[in-house]
Amino acid sequence: MDFPAFIKLVESKTGRPMKQYGVRWKGHCPAHDDQSPSFSCWLADDGWICVNCFAGCTTRQIYKALEVEKKDMGPPLRPGMSRTAAARPATPSAPHSANKNGHPGRNKPDYPNARAAVDAVAALLRRQHPEIERTNCFRYCTADAKLYAAVIRFRNPKTFRPIARAADGKWQIGDPPILIWFPYHAERLGNAKTVHVPEGEKCVLALEKYGLVATTSAHGAQCADKTDWKILSGKNIYLWPDRDGPGEGYIFDVWLHLRAICPQIKVVRLPGLPEGGDICDWLKQHKPWTEDEIKAALAEEIDLAKTYPSPPPAPPPDSAEVENT
Ligand SMILES: [Zn+2]
Repeated sequence: MDFPAFIKLVESKTGRPMKQYGVRWKGHCPAHDDQSPSFSCWLADDGWICVNCFAGCTTRQIYKALEVEKKDMGPPLRPGMSRTAAARPATPSAPHSANKNGHPGRNKPDYPNARAAVDAVAALLRRQHPEIERTNCFRYCTADAKLYAAVIRFRNPKTFRPIARAADGKWQIGDPPILIWFPYHAERLGNAKTVHVPEGEKCVLALEKYGLVATTSAHGAQCADKTDWKILSGKNIYLWPDRDGPGEGYIFDVWLHLRAICPQIKVVRLPGLPEGGDICDWLKQHKPWTEDEIKAALAEEIDLAKTYPSPPPAPPPDSAEVENT
C-alpha cells in the first residue's frame, strides 16, 4: 500500500480527517473509541508505514481495525520486483531517502561490530566535511541491557547519525530494523518511581550526573513518535523542555505518549535559561557552585514543577523597555 492510500484508509475507517505535522500524520485511532486524536503514522525511510496509538493500542489491534496485514504496510510491489527492491526510494534525492543522511534503505552494507559501523559513518561524513569530529556515542539498550543501537554525535558541523544491530547481529548505518526505539538508558529505568525527560542524550547525562534517573528519545525534538515509551508506564514524570518552540513541541509530544500511562506528569521550567537553552546551559551558568549546591537547586526546581500541560511563563520584559519605564 502506498502512504496516501493508507491515510485515506484511516480516514474512511474513522470518519475523521488526518492532519500532517512534518513527516508525521495524526488523527483519531481506528482501534479504540478515541475522543482526542491519539493516532499517528509515518512513512519510514525504507518505505514501510509505521503506526502508533498514544493511548496504548497495539499495532496488531490497529491492523485489525483497519483490516490490513503486516505485508500491506510495506512499500508497494510492482510485478517482478522483490520486497527489498521496492523499499528503495524512487530517486536517491527523494526526501528521507537512503543515502542523503546515511540512513538505511539502499545498498545497506553490514559491519561486523558497532565500532566498525561508527568508523564507517565517520568516514562517510568526512567525505563531505573533512573537519568533522566525533564527540559522543550514545548507546541505546533494551530494558534488559542488550545493546541494539547507538546515536553518534559529531561537531563541525553538529550532526547526529544512528547505527543499529540488524537481525543477524551485524551492524548497519541507520535506524533499528524494528523501526522503533526504546527510551535512552532504558536499562536504568526499570525500578525508578520518578523519571526525568529532557530533550537529548547530553541533557540526560547531565541530570544523571546529579543523581536523577533520566531518559529521552532518539532523533531529537521532532521524533518522540519513533520511541516506544511504554517502559515509563506507572512512573512519575518530570519534563525538562528546552526554552524554545521545538522544545515545547517536544514535551507536548512526549506528554501525548505518557498521559494515559503515567500517574503524574510535571514540567520543570529552569529560570534564567537563554533562548534555546537547556539543563546543560543552566549548569554552565552555575559552574562555580558545588555539587551539593547544584543538587539542592535542582531539587528546589523539581519541587516548583507544575502539572503539565501548563502554559510556559511569559518571556522576560525587554531590558530596554524596563529602562524606559
Ligand atoms: Zn488506539
